[in-house]
Amino acid sequence: MGWNFLGAPDIIFAERFDVRWALRLGTLYGISIRLHFTFLFLVAFLFLVTTLGGGWLAGLRSLLFILLVFVCVLLHELAHSYVSVRYGLRVRSITLLPIGGLALLEDVPREPRQEIHIALAGPAANFVLALWLGVLLSVLEPGAAFTPMLSGEALLASLFWSNLYIGLFNLIPAYPLDGGRVLRAWLSARRDYVEATHVAVGVGQVFSLLIILGGLVLREPWLVVIGLFVFWAGLAEDRMAVLQSALERIYLEDVMLTEFQSLAPSDSLFDALDRALHSLQNDFPVVAEGRVVGVLTRSGLLRAFSGQGWNNSVQAVMSSRFETAQRRDTLGTAFKKLTARGLSVIPVLEDEHLVGIVTLQNLMHSIAFLSRKGAAEFEFLRRG
Ligand SMILES: [Zn+2]
Repeated sequence: MGWNFLGAPDIIFAERFDVRWALRLGTLYGISIRLHFTFLFLVAFLFLVTTLGGGWLAGLRSLLFILLVFVCVLLHELAHSYVSVRYGLRVRSITLLPIGGLALLEDVPREPRQEIHIALAGPAANFVLALWLGVLLSVLEPGAAFTPMLSGEALLASLFWSNLYIGLFNLIPAYPLDGGRVLRAWLSARRDYVEATHVAVGVGQVFSLLIILGGLVLREPWLVVIGLFVFWAGLAEDRMAVLQSALERIYLEDVMLTEFQSLAPSDSLFDALDRALHSLQNDFPVVAEGRVVGVLTRSGLLRAFSGQGWNNSVQAVMSSRFETAQRRDTLGTAFKKLTARGLSVIPVLEDEHLVGIVTLQNLMHSIAFLSRKGAAEFEFLRRG
């Protein structure tokens, strides 16, 4: 049948790509190891097909083979993870997908040397495994190793070839495969990071089209699926690089809301309601003598009205535990503050004076706008 382990690509993603529908197998050195549900379907499907074709024993053999191949994929991911951790990067999880592995790093390193080492560790693990299996094979079954095969019938030889294929396949410079990461790192040592990613993705897409074409010519639907996945992952990574650079290079003063209303602690809740009704603003900074003393959020206001606090002043219901930011803070730090603490608004200060506010909606809006292709042309995106 048209399915084999020629490919088994793996992708290292930054944490933001979370994988849903995954079964948690356990935790290894603080890394959660997960199995995607579709993987179970694949295993069940292949087991059924081989059992129907060649009986129980053949079914069990192919099952064992798939599981062992994925143990090798897991070792490949663990090798990436090991080097990442050595460089002080946290690895959140490793997920096994039907087409390969996925390691989620807290962040992908910017240091080209580190990225190259992390990328090469994976294929290196497979080559070491292939070496061991090759030695074992030449002792136990001399001659067998030289006939390429991938089946449950000759387990040892098939595992030897699988590791060789996995190692070589991932070295194809089709970003975000490992080989593509090496290319990106090499380019980013010579030019801007976003540009390097963009070029690497372009090269990667040519290669993924070749993989798709190869799959069509060889009648290996699996290769077509893998090629499509690599193509899609490249696009996603390209967008992410632009976004990441926007988060790092844009200051709050570039995107903060400067036309906004504020409240005084002595204002009544009716004043607050009046302002909320006559503007699109949901959250208000509360200012006394030129200083921000609190924040009144939409939910705080609604809570006050649904309770018995009709006659309260803003001071009584405002939240005095709030975060502030400076106008030269980056978009990224404000975004983190807002999301990590579940805040809806952050007052932006300059010399202790309120100069603007940023809200989650406002930042999402700016990010969506600025992460478009061509946003890199904006003047303020180019500084720094
Ligand atoms: Zn890899």
